[in-house]
Amino acid sequence: QAERLAAALATLNDQQRAAVEHGVGLLADDHRPLLVIAGAGSGKTATLAHRVAHLIAQGADPQRLLLLTFSRRAAQEMSRRAGHVLARVLGLKSGSPPELPWAGTFHGIGARLLRQYATQIGLQENFTIHDRGDAEDLMGLVRHQLGLSSSNRRFPQKGTCLSIYSRVVNTRASLAEVVGEAFPWCGEWEPELKRLFGAYVDAKQQQQVLDYDDLLLYWAEMVADPVLGRAVGERFDHVLVDEYQDTNRLQSAILLALKPDGRGLAVVGDDAQSIYSFRGATVRNILDFPGQFAQATPAGPVPVSARVVTLERNYRSTPPILDVSNAVIAASAERHAKTLWTDRPSAGRPQLVLVPDEAHQACWVADRVLAHREGGLALKSQAVLFRTSTHSAPLELELARRNIPFVKYGGLKFLEASHVKDMLAVLRFAQNPRGRMAGFRVTQLIPGIGPATATRLLDAMDQAADPQAAVRDFVPPATAQVEWARFAQSYEALRQPALAWPADMDLVLRWYLPHLERLHDDADLRRGDVEQLARLAAGYGSRERFLTELTLDPPEATSDRPGPPLLDEDYLILSTIHSAKGQEWTSVHVLNVVDGCLPADVAHGAHALEEERRLLYVAMTRARDHLHLLVPQRFYVTQQAARGDRHLYAGRTRFIPASDVHRFEQVTWPPPPPRAPAVPPPAATIDLLSRMRASWK
Ligand code: ATP
Ligand code: MG
Repeated sequence: QAERLAAALATLNDQQRAAVEHGVGLLADDHRPLLVIAGAGSGKTATLAHRVAHLIAQGADPQRLLLLTFSRRAAQEMSRRAGHVLARVLGLKSGSPPELPWAGTFHGIGARLLRQYATQIGLQENFTIHDRGDAEDLMGLVRHQLGLSSSNRRFPQKGTCLSIYSRVVNTRASLAEVVGEAFPWCGEWEPELKRLFGAYVDAKQQQQVLDYDDLLLYWAEMVADPVLGRAVGERFDHVLVDEYQDTNRLQSAILLALKPDGRGLAVVGDDAQSIYSFRGATVRNILDFPGQFAQATPAGPVPVSARVVTLERNYRSTPPILDVSNAVIAASAERHAKTLWTDRPSAGRPQLVLVPDEAHQACWVADRVLAHREGGLALKSQAVLFRTSTHSAPLELELARRNIPFVKYGGLKFLEASHVKDMLAVLRFAQNPRGRMAGFRVTQLIPGIGPATATRLLDAMDQAADPQAAVRDFVPPATAQVEWARFAQSYEALRQPALAWPADMDLVLRWYLPHLERLHDDADLRRGDVEQLARLAAGYGSRERFLTELTLDPPEATSDRPGPPLLDEDYLILSTIHSAKGQEWTSVHVLNVVDGCLPADVAHGAHALEEERRLLYVAMTRARDHLHLLVPQRFYVTQQAARGDRHLYAGRTRFIPASDVHRFEQVTWPPPPPRAPAVPPPAATIDLLSRMRASWK
């Protein structure tokens, strides 16, 4: 096996191997924390996957590996890659991926740990998780209850309030700092905001609901406790983190509390790809990483510095693609001193394609995609990337028209449809009877029950020792009696612990479908979604798992037709750039590479602009062999509601200045019509004319 292990690691370069072997095995004597910092496509994720395989091959218990990735999809991909390597090490033809029970996102893993330790931190095990919409609604409700919404001075909207709150939590800054920096127009409301956030926290506690931020916040608080912190930290021998540049202060605090001396901690990232600062992520995490660890000794803490490994060889892209990407990022005001080189064979230059408008853009892209497919490139190895989810609409129409199947990532989520939300609310309400947002939504589906009655019921449930008894005893308005009885009966059944998942889902369907028919004219269409949700449910082990994972990391793929995503057919990937992070395709199209879109016209200030530059860099570095940047001359943007829709005539993005254009093959499509050459008038006409004139003389 030692030989096979050596062979499996032989494909790695020296730096990669150093990162894979660092601190692994009985003979290892260097246990400093590890930071791999390197550019796009240099094999950071591959290195982590090899490290996982190497750890397991060396006898590490997969149960004791904590692997934190950016999305659930990325975690699955990582297990898959590790499985390949492991199979090679074990001498198997093909390996099933190792079961890595603790691989996931910070939020997903946080939710699981919190449930396990719930009773020790003042939570109930059946807490439910609010998605952004629920969280906003609860914020709105509290705002209303405090009388802040009726004030005649304009108090910030619920969404803004939640953003401020979230930023305070995630950056660990003070309210004054956050408001001063990012929401200056809310400055006058600071005392009221404090009161609002206090009440919001109370409401969540009372209802046993957690929002996204709470999953990190509670986790951080839990591991800051000396006893619990040690207990949780000791569960994991190794902690591995991908895309470290997009973590926030709270996440780095969690890692530090889990591994104060950094032993067994390995993080990888690229500061040039940091694209989530709008959510509180900070590259400072990478910069501060090496100096934050300390070993406890009887004489007091002794600082432990990190081992820093850099990778410079790019394995992903052809030289011309690397060249244009490097040019975009090299001009960055916030320096990312890294040069990548590759010895991949050279290939054609990336294209800069000028088209008149978005309709032509859609046509050109569809043509190219088909041409690539003719050339032997499966749709799956091609992707179309864009800044904002709505930007793909014209292309989606064109693809549908030509029967090109596609799957869209990071789009408007299936879960945002009201009927899907209804179904989930029923499950949430059954899971946690104190969750008022879910209760409010569900009970008002019953004809004859409005906000007043719903409030009366929820208050009664709050006050009852047994909320279910309150449902049983509730006296609804006379008009609602029959439907109420039907609800109470289903609710009772759903609350039975013995009910096996996903049988719950059938019960919910049976109760909900008549309401769906009654409430919506297009019930037939919507029924498809609801049934798809039921099918999805079957893939999860329990109701709690289903609700948690769906809320935290929804299956964002939406296909061009109803039904489950086309999993084993060939399809084109459409994705926002943010959701394309970490992935690669043989051919990549980037839409709307124009000022006003990339950078977005809402990006103000030097930092925001630099983040837009990094976003373009991320988009371009997804390509292996073919990169096409599209520049529509006329670009239609849906501005924030206040300003209405308008056209922008902006031109090529400022991130590709005229001096860099020569690096691209320039295409104009459709080609401009040839200008008519100046033709000398034929002699015969002149003759005729002069004769005609002569006849009048
Ligand atoms: P990103 O910054 O975009 O997340 P990354 O640094 O994580 O990129 P990977 O996705 O791990 O890069 O690797 C990029 C490509 O290079 C993958 O196709 C991977 O299989 C390949 N690769 C990485 N290391 C090697 C190697 N030593 N030999 C051959 N191919 C490699
Ligand atoms: Mg990666």
